[in-house]
Amino acid sequence: MKPSAFAYARPRALEEAFALLDKHGENAKLLAGGQSLLASLNMRLAAPEILVDIGAIPGLDGIAVRGQTLVIGARTTHRAIERSEAVAKHAPLLAQAAPHIAHVAIRNAGTLGGSLAMADPAAEWPACCVALQATIVVTSKKGERRVAATDFFKDLYTTALGAGELITAVEIPCVEKGERHAFLELVRRRGDYAIVGLAARARLKGKTLSGVQLVYLGVGVTPVQAKGAMAALEGKTADDAAIRAAQDAIARDLEPNADIYTSAEAKRHLARVLVARAVAALVG
Ligand SMILES: Cc1cc2nc3c(=O)[nH]c(=O)nc-3n(C[C@H](O)[C@H](O)[C@H](O)COP(=O)(O)OP(=O)(O)OC[C@H]3O[C@@H](n4cnc5c(N)ncnc54)[C@H](O)[C@@H]3O)c2cc1C
Repeated sequence: MKPSAFAYARPRALEEAFALLDKHGENAKLLAGGQSLLASLNMRLAAPEILVDIGAIPGLDGIAVRGQTLVIGARTTHRAIERSEAVAKHAPLLAQAAPHIAHVAIRNAGTLGGSLAMADPAAEWPACCVALQATIVVTSKKGERRVAATDFFKDLYTTALGAGELITAVEIPCVEKGERHAFLELVRRRGDYAIVGLAARARLKGKTLSGVQLVYLGVGVTPVQAKGAMAALEGKTADDAAIRAAQDAIARDLEPNADIYTSAEAKRHLARVLVARAVAALVG
C-alpha cells in the first residue's frame, strides 16, 4: 500500500522542530530512521499531516563519555552503537544486544531514539536501558527533563513522552569494575523480533552476584523487570540451587501474552531457559 499524502519538513534547529510540533499538534510525526514509521504509514496505521524529519538538526547524534556517564544522541543509529569502541568499553550490554536488532540495512538507518519512542515490547534497546538504569533526556520548547528508563515505558507502544517533546539523548552509567552483562534472545529466524529476550547485569565477587538486573523483552506490554528472580539471585552464589530459585520465581514474575506463534506457557518456559543461560554467561 501507499501512505496517505503528507507534508514534509526538515528543520535545521530544535526550535524549528518545536514550532512545527506546536503548530500541527497530533497531526505531526517526528521522522528519524523511518524503519518503523514508514512501514506504519504504508500500512495506513498512521496518517499524519506532516513528517518532521529530525535528520538535519545538529547535536542529536554521536557517542561521548562525560565523567562516569556514556551519552548517546537520540539519532545515533543502531549500527553506530554496535560498532562503537566507547560502547563496547563502557556499556557492553548494548554492544551485545545490537547485532540482534533486525538486519544490517535496518540497523544502518534505525536510531536509538526512534526505538525508545516506538517502545515495541520486543525491542532490544528499551530492555537494555531499563537494565542499565539509563536516563532518557527529553526536550521540548520548555527545556529539558530527564526520565529514568524504569519510568519511561508506560504501556504497549506508550511512553512518558508528552506533546511537543522529543528524545534528544540517553545517559548510561559507565560499567563498573566487576560488573558483568549478558544479552540473550530466542527468535524464529535471525533478524526477527525476539520471541523472548533477556538483558542481564550483575556485579560478581568470586561467584557471588549482587546488583542483579534481569529485564525481559517480548513477555509483556513493556520491558519487564523480573523482580522475584532478581531477588532470588541477589547476594547468592551462582550455583544450580540459585538458578533453580530464579527459574521458580520467573513463573510468578512474568505473565506473558500468547502471540500468533507462541503460547504464554511456551514463553514462560523460554524465559526460564534464558535466566539459566544468563547466569552461566554472567559468571562464565
Ligand atoms: C524488517 C524490520 C525488522 C525490525 N526488527 C527489529 C528488531 O528485531 N528489534 C528492534 O528493536 N527493532 C526492529 N525494527 C525496528 C527498527 O529498530 C527501527 O529502527 C526502530 O524501531 C525505530 O527507529 P527509527 O529511527 O527508524 O524511528 P522512526 O521509524 O523514524 O520513528 C519511530 C517512532 O518514533 C518517533 N521518534 C523517532 N525519533 C524520535 C525522537 N528522537 N524523539 C521522539 N520520538 C521519536 C517517530 O515519530 C515514530 O513515532 C525492525 C524494523 C524492520 C523494518
